Amino acid sequence: MRLYPKKGFKLVTIVSTIIVFSILLTMIISVYSAYLVSKQALVDNYLESNYQHASELANAAGNVLDTMQESVDGLATIWQRGSKIDQDLLEDLYSNNKNYFNSIVIVNKKLVVDNTVPATSGVTAGQQLSGPINNMLLEIRIPHITEPFRSKDGRWIVLVTSPLFDKQERYYGYIAGTIYLQKSNVLQGILEHDYSSDGSYIYAVGPKGNIIFHPDINLVGVSKASDEAVWKVMAGLAGKIEFTDQQDQTFYTGYAYNMKSSWGVIVQTPASVIDVPLRELLQKSILLSLPLLLITLAAGWIITYLAVRPLHVLAEYSNRMVNDWRSEALPPINSGTYEVKALYQSIRFTTRQLQKYIMKLKNETALDGLTGLANRRNFDSTLEAWCIGDEPFAMVMLDIDRFKRVNDTYGHLTGDRVMQFLAVIMRNVSREGDVCFRYGGEEFGILLRGCNVTRAYIVAERLRELLQGTVSPSGEIITVSSGVVAFPEHGRTPDDLISHADEAMYTSKREGRNRTTIYYNQPIEVAEEVEKEPTPEEINV
Ligand code: GH3
Ligand code: MG
Ligand code: MG
Repeated sequence: MRLYPKKGFKLVTIVSTIIVFSILLTMIISVYSAYLVSKQALVDNYLESNYQHASELANAAGNVLDTMQESVDGLATIWQRGSKIDQDLLEDLYSNNKNYFNSIVIVNKKLVVDNTVPATSGVTAGQQLSGPINNMLLEIRIPHITEPFRSKDGRWIVLVTSPLFDKQERYYGYIAGTIYLQKSNVLQGILEHDYSSDGSYIYAVGPKGNIIFHPDINLVGVSKASDEAVWKVMAGLAGKIEFTDQQDQTFYTGYAYNMKSSWGVIVQTPASVIDVPLRELLQKSILLSLPLLLITLAAGWIITYLAVRPLHVLAEYSNRMVNDWRSEALPPINSGTYEVKALYQSIRFTTRQLQKYIMKLKNETALDGLTGLANRRNFDSTLEAWCIGDEPFAMVMLDIDRFKRVNDTYGHLTGDRVMQFLAVIMRNVSREGDVCFRYGGEEFGILLRGCNVTRAYIVAERLRELLQGTVSPSGEIITVSSGVVAFPEHGRTPDDLISHADEAMYTSKREGRNRTTIYYNQPIEVAEEVEKEPTPEEINV
């Protein structure tokens, strides 16, 4: 029988598993938190640097536009002084401003081109211009930087213009410095940036969200007004955002607005840029925390083992106790845990009580209640066990002589005390290992381990002599008649031995009592009858 199912989980396994899982979980959470914090720091870093960069570039672009506006204004002043700029002068002036403008054009108020440089400007003197931008320029008559627009010959351009007034302050038309957005131009010098290594790039948009500058020249003029950074910049805002475009690509974006030009500059870095450093960081932190993890796991397991081990010892002990109540005493355990200590005390107390109780019960079933000698059942099993073995032994069976008379004369209680007295004498003549027993009624016996028949006879005689020399509790001397047998010569089975011993004992009775007879086919009388007073019955007979 087992107290707990054999296949049940051990506490040490469960607790260790919980601890190992907790440690692993804690490690994973801390590594993951470190990962998230590092990722956020990287993202913040990109956002901030892109924002700073966009601000700087927006300012730089604004400053260049200011200078360009000043140049065009200067040209307008020169025009006003002479109320005209001829082709030669215009070419001179253009060569001074080549850095800024791809071309210069002078347009009168009928939108007819007066002069233009260089020859490749796309317009020619005398050409009639049209379109909303040109008309707007005639109307506003102030220095102005246009939004990007497609010119008649299909180029995307921006004009930096100044109105022309003659000496009498009559409006004549306007002079414009042109930036060809798809050609090499002044903006490229400012905005072009070698970001190819991490995929970052810069672009600029005009007041309506159309691209003024982009590393991909094909995108010039394209409207980006739906992108969050662009519509924010168009609203005059500056800042940084993480946003995902329509192609599902995420960017860390900084954007800044230049008030003078109403242009926005956007600097953005693809989110994939942090993948590699983050992966490296993750690998490094896992590698660094691995030794600590292993040490913590080992320590956790050892502590668990030490804490739970005493409970395991108690459980094993309890189980052994169920299987064999005589098993060893409770082994000492070393635990500082209150519950374990309490359990230990309780199990120790209970098992001790149990062992005592079981021992008592066992004695009660094995011993004779009156004399404390082995009872009949105990004698039977001992004799059977000894007969199975090879070791020689002898047996003395004895019956109190004329015991009925003791009872009749002194009462049964005195009779009982006489039997207890006989038991004491029997114990005195036997050695350790011998078994004194009460066979039944007032018949007793001794099993003598390792004894031959002669030795058994001597013991029986000593018993007889001791009885004769000692007054029993009845106040009289009692005598016994004995029969002696030896194993294996007088029998190999309990039945043979008992019946032969009985036979020898009754021979002693028959021969006059108070004597010892050894069984030997023809039972031989060995002891001489002791001189004794005749009993009342004998007198009557
Ligand atoms: P013998 O010499 O022939 O043996 O004569 P005896 O009187 O002893 O005769 P027997 O052996 O037949 O008598 C046994 C008596 O032992 C009968 C009974 O009263 C008594 N007796 C048996 N058991 C007990 C007991 O437990 N207590 C007491 N007081 N007497 C017992
Ligand atoms: Mg009898
Ligand atoms: Mg008797």
